[in-house]
Amino acid sequence: MNKIHKSNTWAVPKKTEAPAKKSPQPFNLVRGTRDILPIDQSYWRKLYEEAEGLCDAYGLERIETPVLEETGLFVRGVGKQTEIVEKEMFSFETAGGDNVTMRPEATASICRAYIYHGMWNQPQPVKLWYWSPMFRHERPQSGRYREFWQFGAEILGEEDAVIDAQLALISWRFLKDLGIDASVRINSIGTPECRANYKNALVAYFRPKRNRLSEDDKKKLLKNPMRLLDSKDPAVIEMKAEAPQIVDWLDESSKNHFMRVLEYLDEVGVPYQLDPFLVRGLDYYTKTVFELYDNAEEDVNKNALGGGGRYDGLMEILGGRPTPAAGFGMGIDRIVSRLKSMNIAAPQRKIDVFVAQLGEGGRKKALAMFEELRLAGIKSGEAFAKGSIKTQMEFANRAGARWTIIIGQKEVLDGTAIVRDMDAGTQEIVDARKIVQVLQKKMAQVQPETLPPTELL
Ligand code: AMP
Repeated sequence: MNKIHKSNTWAVPKKTEAPAKKSPQPFNLVRGTRDILPIDQSYWRKLYEEAEGLCDAYGLERIETPVLEETGLFVRGVGKQTEIVEKEMFSFETAGGDNVTMRPEATASICRAYIYHGMWNQPQPVKLWYWSPMFRHERPQSGRYREFWQFGAEILGEEDAVIDAQLALISWRFLKDLGIDASVRINSIGTPECRANYKNALVAYFRPKRNRLSEDDKKKLLKNPMRLLDSKDPAVIEMKAEAPQIVDWLDESSKNHFMRVLEYLDEVGVPYQLDPFLVRGLDYYTKTVFELYDNAEEDVNKNALGGGGRYDGLMEILGGRPTPAAGFGMGIDRIVSRLKSMNIAAPQRKIDVFVAQLGEGGRKKALAMFEELRLAGIKSGEAFAKGSIKTQMEFANRAGARWTIIIGQKEVLDGTAIVRDMDAGTQEIVDARKIVQVLQKKMAQVQPETLPPTELL
């Protein structure tokens, strides 16, 4: 008997007495996940359109990589000793025995795609952007979810400092255009060689103070001392003030690179603050690292809205050719909640026309007319499952329709339709065959008044 057959036999339910009927329990959300409901979609659309517009303007092309990647990609790419790989990955073995992880960030995946598709054969740099969900098993709290969305960009195959500045500019501009006054905190962490010396200096500084460190931070001191600089422990924050700064360990080339990034940012007017202890928690960064913070948010422990940096060594670590690259990732969930708390509105999708009907004949005609209007590009609304005209008019009002078309039995027989102007409260009877022309004419008459004066010139 093979295994499947055996399990099938075993799965046949035994005939027992029917259990007492119990109503099934509704399901909860998986911890740290949430629904993004229709009421919030106008914000998500606004952010997506802003991201797409900016990336188009800067010549970036959209890429989407799979949620599932081989676990090794992140262990090697992001780094074994990082918070993400040590504690936060959703990893599992598939039924086929593969070890996979739900991507916690996109940079390693995009480098994997660059290597996999031989993108070094394309003109360099390759400029990509993404808008995708990420998964990290963090302790859920405000602004921190286990599934969250990032909009990000990666520019691969160029080491010039102008790329770092452009990426900081795009991420800052994204927030600025949405109405968030942000500034860029920036630092350079140099090459792995500069960092090796700096790590020794950090260990020498913190070791005599180690009895003031938590167990977790003691481990960091041993394994990855730069992670101590990210610690939220007030004692470490206090000790950090006097700690050695990476800038004093930078080689000439990293220093010059950093100076040029800052000069470009000055030139384009991106506000920045030098942050000597900004290291970012991922191993792959080299030279420039930056994070974006909202200036108007008062909370001292405020969350970053985005971050990025250069990662010139990552492609080689992942088995590709040496390829300098840089990128950023913006936290969409956090930006949406920031806009909402600032009462910044997002435009709702509006309709021009509502198609109402009365009786079965009217409903059939209205169904076809809705399709005709849609094909002509006229934004229309309907409530075909409703019979009452009063209910349908309420729908039309709620949807903000400027006109309502009404088709009842009489209109079906006459081949006409009633067009009601919802603002003026007037109505007229028109030839049903000419409905598209009639509405286009009305819309053309109304729209110029709503345009800002400059667009009328
Ligand atoms: P990181 O590269 O880890 O700094 O992530 C970039 C941005 O993604 C952060 O600045 C946040 O805005 C956002 N982000 C990171 N982790 C989370 C999370 N668990 N929940 C919501 N947003 C997050």
